[in-house]
Amino acid sequence: MRIGAPDQAPSGISTDVTSFLRKPQMLIGGKSVSGSGETFDVHNPADGSVLANVPSAGKADVDDAVKAARAALDGAWSGMPAAERTRLMLKLADLIEENGEELAQLETLENGKSIMMSRLIEVLSSAEYLRYMAGWATKIRGETLDVSIAIPPGTKYTAFTRKEPVGVVAAITPWNFPLNMAVWKIAPALAAGCTVVLKPAEETPLTSMRLAELVREAGFPDGVVNVVTGDGGTGAALVKHPGVNKITFTGSTETGKLIGIQAMQDVKSVTLELGGKAPMVFFDDMDLSLLGPATGIGVFLNTGQTCCAGTRLYIQKGIYEEALATLKGIVSSLSIGPGLDPAHHINPVVSAKHHKHVTSAVKKGIADGATPLLDLSVPNGGGYFVAPQLFTDARSGSSLMQDEVFGPVATITPFDSEDEAVAMANDTRFGLGASVWTRDINRVMNLVPRIKSGTVWVNSHNIPDQNMPFGGFKQSGLGREHGSGALDNYLETKSVCVAYS
Ligand code: NAD
Repeated sequence: MRIGAPDQAPSGISTDVTSFLRKPQMLIGGKSVSGSGETFDVHNPADGSVLANVPSAGKADVDDAVKAARAALDGAWSGMPAAERTRLMLKLADLIEENGEELAQLETLENGKSIMMSRLIEVLSSAEYLRYMAGWATKIRGETLDVSIAIPPGTKYTAFTRKEPVGVVAAITPWNFPLNMAVWKIAPALAAGCTVVLKPAEETPLTSMRLAELVREAGFPDGVVNVVTGDGGTGAALVKHPGVNKITFTGSTETGKLIGIQAMQDVKSVTLELGGKAPMVFFDDMDLSLLGPATGIGVFLNTGQTCCAGTRLYIQKGIYEEALATLKGIVSSLSIGPGLDPAHHINPVVSAKHHKHVTSAVKKGIADGATPLLDLSVPNGGGYFVAPQLFTDARSGSSLMQDEVFGPVATITPFDSEDEAVAMANDTRFGLGASVWTRDINRVMNLVPRIKSGTVWVNSHNIPDQNMPFGGFKQSGLGREHGSGALDNYLETKSVCVAYS
């Protein structure tokens, strides 16, 4: 079913969704499979109910998937012209849109997020991402190089580089944007000519499993894309597998470090997109009417479960009191409820485990001396709801200011000078996203180089684009996704040196 209007509540769960939920399967070597027999439940965060029972891939399943990816790489896929790869990717993008409403409902059911977000980001932006990356498949190129070697005398040389697919890619994704993150990895890998084993997060495997069905329907050769489901154990087995050439991971910094260590054991190429603790720096001269959209998109988008969510708000003293009152008003007016009703701004967090993490972080923040500004209640009924919360008085070294809460929670701190703002913004081990809010272009141009962050937004926040490199400084990651550079994550450079006389 094609996607509904973004802001319209679905009239009911689609029958395609209910029938898919009866037996979601993995995809290995072009076949839908249930794996070794172990299973786990996927829950609906809106009420805690069990949505589906899903295979838990063991080592043998992971081995099958990697072998299938290898066979495809050595067979049909490497023999296929790049233009055909483009066509298949475009077909997959169309299928995502054609089945968009079903995918959006599935995403909201498993993740809890607003159906509007599922439609706009998980579905439509994923389809656009595939189309963008599909275009690069036919534009991979090397260079010709003059070389200065003169041995033996009289011999001439010309060198050139070839870009070749790195091989079998293990793609491991988090739960916060499940379909979108899967596409961010699969699309450049396929454009580069790699094959993929995708392991989605155990909280939200369903849209990746449905994507696997669409991969088959699009006509990709068997084994080009494989999807195995399971927890961190399945992910670890995939990372360690000797048949994997490249690991691309998005998730927490803690897991990223473990994966990086394992990757280096085998000297495998690795891209890590990790956590964040983004500052939003509001100067006295900002357009105060932007404060609402700034916090709506910057802080509370996806119920704060966004890696570059603004979680540390720094406000210059001249506007501090006015901004504080405005922020309190804005946050108090946010509606809290299930994601299937697009009228709600704050939805349940993804799981019971994460609910505990967020509520504990809030309690610890208060115990550490931070002052909560709001006292909002959440709906009853078994869902994993957390009220949005803003804190003042948080200490710079406290956990609330240093660790990811990954929920609808932010701190507010006043500052005097630009130098103070820069020091505060950089006072974290993370460096994924940051934003600066001012009308002064000179200030912007001087501040941007001083902020240690993979992206700095100016008078905006949390706006990734497929053409704009995205990734982290410091402990927020290694490498960049998006743009033409994303393909380099999946390509090896081979130098070819030709002697002639
Ligand atoms: P997580 O690290 O717990 O899990 C991510 C994935 O890794 C899951 O699929 C999980 O099963 C798998 N995994 C866990 N242990 C593993 C191991 N030892 N070996 C291999 N795989 C393993 O992260 P999460 O809680 O799912 O996601 C939230 C985190 O993701 C946050 O820290 C957030 O900031 C980060 N994130 C970053 C970006 C980015 O682009 N930088 C984007 C989205 C989310």
